[in-house]
Amino acid sequence: MSRFDRFLMVDWSGGNDTGPRPRKDAIWIGESGPDGDAAPLYQRNRNVAEETLAARIEAALVAGERLCIGFDFPFGYPAGFAAALTGRADPFAVWGWLAERIKDAPRDNNRFDVAAGINLQMAQGQGPFWGNGLRRDIAGLPRTKAGYRNPFPDRRVIETRAKGAFTCWQLSGAGAVGSQVLMGLPVLERLRQRFAGQVAVWPFQPLDRPIAFVEIWPSLINDTVKAATGEGDIRDAVQVRLVARALGGLAPDRLDAMLQVDAPEEGWILGHGFEDELTATRGRAMSLKPPPLTNDCFALPPGVNWTPVDQALALLRERLHPVVPCETVPLMQASGRVLAEDLSARRANPPLPNTAVDGYGFAAEAIAGLDEITLPLVAGRAAAGLSYPGEVPPGYAIRMLTGASLPLGVDTVVLDEDCTTGEGQVAFRGPVKPGANTRRAGEDVAQGAPILPRGRVLTPADLALAAATGLSDLPVHAPLRVGVLSTGNEVVPAGSAAAPGQIFDANRPMLLSLIARFGHVPVDLGHVPDDRAALRARLDSAEADAILTSGGASAGDEDHVSALLSDSGALNAWRIALKPGRPLALGMWQGKPVFGLPGNPVAAFVCTLVFARPALRLLAGADWSAPEGFDVPAAFTKNKKPGRREYLRARLREGRAEVFKSEGSGRISGLSWAEGLVELPDGAAHITPGTPVRYIPFGSFGV
Ligand code: AMP
Ligand code: MG
Repeated sequence: MSRFDRFLMVDWSGGNDTGPRPRKDAIWIGESGPDGDAAPLYQRNRNVAEETLAARIEAALVAGERLCIGFDFPFGYPAGFAAALTGRADPFAVWGWLAERIKDAPRDNNRFDVAAGINLQMAQGQGPFWGNGLRRDIAGLPRTKAGYRNPFPDRRVIETRAKGAFTCWQLSGAGAVGSQVLMGLPVLERLRQRFAGQVAVWPFQPLDRPIAFVEIWPSLINDTVKAATGEGDIRDAVQVRLVARALGGLAPDRLDAMLQVDAPEEGWILGHGFEDELTATRGRAMSLKPPPLTNDCFALPPGVNWTPVDQALALLRERLHPVVPCETVPLMQASGRVLAEDLSARRANPPLPNTAVDGYGFAAEAIAGLDEITLPLVAGRAAAGLSYPGEVPPGYAIRMLTGASLPLGVDTVVLDEDCTTGEGQVAFRGPVKPGANTRRAGEDVAQGAPILPRGRVLTPADLALAAATGLSDLPVHAPLRVGVLSTGNEVVPAGSAAAPGQIFDANRPMLLSLIARFGHVPVDLGHVPDDRAALRARLDSAEADAILTSGGASAGDEDHVSALLSDSGALNAWRIALKPGRPLALGMWQGKPVFGLPGNPVAAFVCTLVFARPALRLLAGADWSAPEGFDVPAAFTKNKKPGRREYLRARLREGRAEVFKSEGSGRISGLSWAEGLVELPDGAAHITPGTPVRYIPFGSFGV
């Protein structure tokens, strides 16, 4: 058995975001696994690639697979640099040093400035780095090698042997790798930390962890790549695919032989000296090897292309942001709207100290230590909304009604029921605690205190709080318009005549109603047959901020939603480890996010609750929301296989979760029967009556 189940080979890039359409000079990830190799993945920038890699690592760990990830840039610098930079001859010290300093936004980063800083520290700005690729001059970073001075070797040992390898000191110009290293090592370091204990880095560590990082150099198989790159092919994509295929096709002992190197500081290029063996696999047919059909071919296919639910949600959470503008609305119209700014109290609540009861108020100090107290009453009374104009002298009391502000001279109130009155006096027994039955000013909310955070979906109680603290107009997001479109030749609208082979459109009323319950504005985009032009026209004319489609989301002939989105270059087929649900096609259509839901109503419903709901909330400006569930004893039996999360249509009866008699995803009656979902974890589960299971009422999804 090989050391690894799967190989991901990454062609890194030191440059900026390359946009949504696949192109060269981007990051490409080639893959080879138990089912052969897969079409390379395009990654428009490093941030996206980092998340993809994290997701793949996570998926491999969940699936118990061993994953080897190769990167085409040096893992170390020439000898002496690590110690000069960090005080330790340890490549990981350099990784950490860079991770702390490199800032990487998709369209801008500080790599040249960081390099200049190193130069100034080490060789008065004359080296070791050179090749300022920016228009502006940077002190300490030479543009050319004129006046260049490098205290370190120009190349690593491996680079003196690998013909044509570039030096990592050169940051720009054709073929330069220096920027890739500066921009790559921080990503590797973060992944290493994020999956601490699960990742080993070659050749610095023994590869005894499920995940390995290795350094590759596709030029080792240059001839093969050249031969395989057709007109219109993107070379970077071809080469990562071929490297993945080559490594994946090696006999285990040959890979082991390649891994035997001694380069504890500088690192090494995997496969150097073994080029013939790497290219020997070129004889294999270029077309993909189809996966073998097995009896359970409709079960989860082998492999880890499945993104765990939590990982998919984390990606949505990270990527999506509000798409609707802000406006100000009167408090009275703000219920259910999304707050666009943090709010703080304009006024304290309560604004003044007041009495919590009907009774008599006085100064506590005047009766300190007395058991039996009789106080003369001043004329008049203090009632809510009527402030008492005078001052109550020490030793006097005043009649007070609930909510009345404490008059000057009053700090304590005794309850009506504890008093007797007559002849202009009030009598009661001591001791009375100073401050009794009063409310301090601002005891609920101080003036200026934060009351409601941005992103909050305003509740009736929030409106009470905002009003009480002196607010009247609230900054909110404009409502999110969500279009709902059904697809499929077989689908006809409810109420029309249906031929025997046709089905009524169940998804559209369901989804429109869900959208309304989520607090967005539902926009009915109707139904289109399985016709790409019609679908395109409908998406083009949709007046919506986001679109939910149902049907046609997988990769079959009639699956035009995924085909169209993929033509436009902005499709991500999300294969989420979820039942019911796959596949989910997430894409962008003219800047609008499109959620391509499965056609099956049950799957469409579950995907909407689990994925579309939190995603739409973010688009609407609201905060992230995970549904609250709770553990209850099961009233059913089920053996669940590991590898994906499952949601069962469920309801609570006598404190136990019942599930619908069938898990069929066409069983709409079960959706209607259910009052919530039972969520079964990604791993295996053996459930018998009484086993605690997580129940999430529909109410927790805002439904
Ligand atoms: P698809 O995802 O297009 O392959 O559809 C999967 C299944 O869902 C098929 O049986 C479709 O007939 C059914 N389906 C698709 N759209 C709808 C809809 N709007 N209402 C009810 N069933 C649908
Ligand atoms: Mg269809």
